[in-house]
Amino acid sequence: MAKRALITGVLGQDGAYLAKLLVGKGYEVFGGARRSSSMNTWRLAELGIENDVRLLPLDLLEMTNLMRVIEQVRPDELYNLAAQSFVAASFDQPLLTSEIDAIGAARLLEALRAIQPKCRFYQASTSEMFGKVRESPQTEMTPFHPRSPYAVAKAYAHYMTVNYREAFGLHASSGILFNHESPLRGHEFVTRKVTLGLAAVKQGRQEAVDLGNVDSARDWGFAGDYVEGMWRMVQQPQGDDYVLATGESHSVREFVEMAATAAGFSVAWEGKDETARAVDRKSGKTIVRVNPAFYRPAEVDVLRGDSKKARATLGWKPAISFAKLVEIMMEADLRREGKHLLG
Ligand code: NAP
Ligand code: GDP
Repeated sequence: MAKRALITGVLGQDGAYLAKLLVGKGYEVFGGARRSSSMNTWRLAELGIENDVRLLPLDLLEMTNLMRVIEQVRPDELYNLAAQSFVAASFDQPLLTSEIDAIGAARLLEALRAIQPKCRFYQASTSEMFGKVRESPQTEMTPFHPRSPYAVAKAYAHYMTVNYREAFGLHASSGILFNHESPLRGHEFVTRKVTLGLAAVKQGRQEAVDLGNVDSARDWGFAGDYVEGMWRMVQQPQGDDYVLATGESHSVREFVEMAATAAGFSVAWEGKDETARAVDRKSGKTIVRVNPAFYRPAEVDVLRGDSKKARATLGWKPAISFAKLVEIMMEADLRREGKHLLG
């Protein structure tokens, strides 16, 4: 009989890639999506799996809803990907973020413990928990120093996952994933904001892209590679914690330069701090500029992960390089922008 997987947050970036992977492996895939008057299934449609995922209304804020869905689906594997996942928004909505990202995970663990304790559980943890980093690169053993309500909430969910494994014997794993991107990334995240924005600048629909701190650096990988790692964690004989990362760190400036090159610009940086801007050498126009409105109350300056454990135990490694990732994202948005103008 086909295995049954329940994915919370299935309409998000990772949810869509994971659903695609599991459908390909012959799973029966149930996708939890919070109800809305206009359910947005564009990512499933882009991956061609809109009709292969059974969507169920699921909201991490509502315990009874979670219990009913678990009773109905009786999953073999549950991937908790749902979250208020945008760091910047968590400073404005810290309580909602905690309700969803922290207590939401606890609600799911409690529901599993009561109804389906044999179900394997995956928690979407994050490198943001390392925050003001204590060492570099960061491993599963690096202490946390979260710098946003999002990261604090995710640290709680991480420890609850570990605790339910130790206290109640749940097969529960926490994937500490460094930033991973794709053409399906949400529009607010810096990588997608840059590729979407530059595509619009290229078509003359937008003057420039406004960014915050362009000196921060992230360990950016491709989301398609990372969902493979999630699945491999859940297939292990025991639940555990694993870092998934590329091991390379690049600044927002570098991302901008490479995306601009892929879009046919050639940029030089001028000014510094709040007056920093990327100018296209050919036209002399500013196409990216710093706007302090996008600065965060507390910043995570540099992240770089060490995924030795995942590589050794899971046989996982990322396939797509940073340069390739930027290219794929830029090309996808140029193509979409072209269609937008034609359509
Ligand atoms: P995403 O695109 O923001 O997807 C998250 C999904 O969760 C969205 O579809 C969202 O629905 C849904 N959601 C929000 N609140 C909910 C609630 N109360 N009940 C049920 N669903 C809810 O995020 P992602 O990039 O795919 O990331 C997947 C997970 O990995 C998240 O937990 C994220 O925090 C974590 N993570 C991501 C990264 C990364 O670089 N992408 C790195 C480390 C960890 P709406 O569309 O309605 O908002
Ligand atoms: P995060 O690592 O989960 O916070 O992912 P983001 O893509 O939101 O941000 C990555 C880094 O880019 C952070 O250090 C941000 O401060 C920085 N950044 C600079 N400008 C922007 C911007 O305009 N939007 C976003 N989202 N991040 C920006």
